[in-house]
Amino acid sequence: MTATLFSAIGELVTNDPALGDGSALGIVRDAALVAEDGRVVWVGSADEAPAADERVDLGGRAVVPGFVDSHTHLVFAGERSAEFAARMAGEPYTGGGIMTTVAATRAASDATLRANARRLHAEMTASGTTTIEAKSGYGLTVDDERRLLSISRELTAETTFLGAHVVPAESAADRAGYVALVCGAMLDACAPHARWIDVFCDVGAFGEDEARAVLAAGAAAGLLPRLHGNQLARGPGVRLAVELGAASVDHCNHLTEDDVEALASSATVATLLPGADFSTRAPYADARRLLDAGATVALATDCNPGSSYVTSMPLVIALAVREMRMTPGEALWAATAGGAAALRRDDVGRLGPGARADLAALDAPSYVHLAYRPGAPLVADVFTGGRTAVTDKE
Ligand SMILES: [Zn+2]
Repeated sequence: MTATLFSAIGELVTNDPALGDGSALGIVRDAALVAEDGRVVWVGSADEAPAADERVDLGGRAVVPGFVDSHTHLVFAGERSAEFAARMAGEPYTGGGIMTTVAATRAASDATLRANARRLHAEMTASGTTTIEAKSGYGLTVDDERRLLSISRELTAETTFLGAHVVPAESAADRAGYVALVCGAMLDACAPHARWIDVFCDVGAFGEDEARAVLAAGAAAGLLPRLHGNQLARGPGVRLAVELGAASVDHCNHLTEDDVEALASSATVATLLPGADFSTRAPYADARRLLDAGATVALATDCNPGSSYVTSMPLVIALAVREMRMTPGEALWAATAGGAAALRRDDVGRLGPGARADLAALDAPSYVHLAYRPGAPLVADVFTGGRTAVTDKE
């Protein structure tokens, strides 16, 4: 085992309140960190750092935990720039464009899908993301959903079966038959490749009874529930997520007071996706209301070709601060520890002893620059398991 000393860290965000300044971010100034066997084994003041086999000098940069992007639709084919341009010219987002991507994805080879997913994954890594969740949902047949998850599994352990993304066009006359397929043969084929099950519970997608049936079938197959809810309108999504003990309910743009209270008094994380609100010119989710009520908030990209073709967590942080009234510290926490909570992980999203040595070094003296300097390529170096992350796109 080789121990690596990361030295000359100007500002280290650990997300461990027991370390550093006592804040939720657990900031240590003039810090060092030792990684061994992929894990953090020591954190503290640089002048107290122990000896190690190797040394990485970070030159006074700020270091943050690698971002945890807990909501992506990573594996698909094609792109929808024409739809985006039309929307920016005034057409509303309806979710109907999903079938455009479904058609392109079904027609694509595994090699094409794999290459596109690897390209996006490399973009994410280069912008500081070290843990991603990846959903299926652009196949919507037994075989296509299975292969999307199989390809996702090559890139992450956090894979999510989303056969209930939309009812595909060919099943429009038989919704019940499609839900039965998702809960039956499709689930059987996908469960070995997935950790999570998800459903798009919203107007124009799946209703409460359908969503409940899908998540119950997934749970019976050993998958853990999470769901898309309350993006387009108020509805049953948040209530159902809390009732079923889902790890996360994602979007949360349209919430009643009961929804906010339910989230605040549960372990279900409210995952907000400002890249989607930005890209669909929709009203942003009210992060301030959720935080003030005491809910746990995560931030993620929702990377997908229709409503949020965004891979950059620094952009998401900047949007959350500027448009959703989160403080820079709240937004960083939500993009790291919050994402980890949304994936029920305690080994990522923090940099205390025992955590994975997944870290991003910023060309900046403080993490605040993530929101303060939007658009600047601040992420200088990314390490996963204590090693330099691969960010090339081959
Ligand atoms: Zn999504």
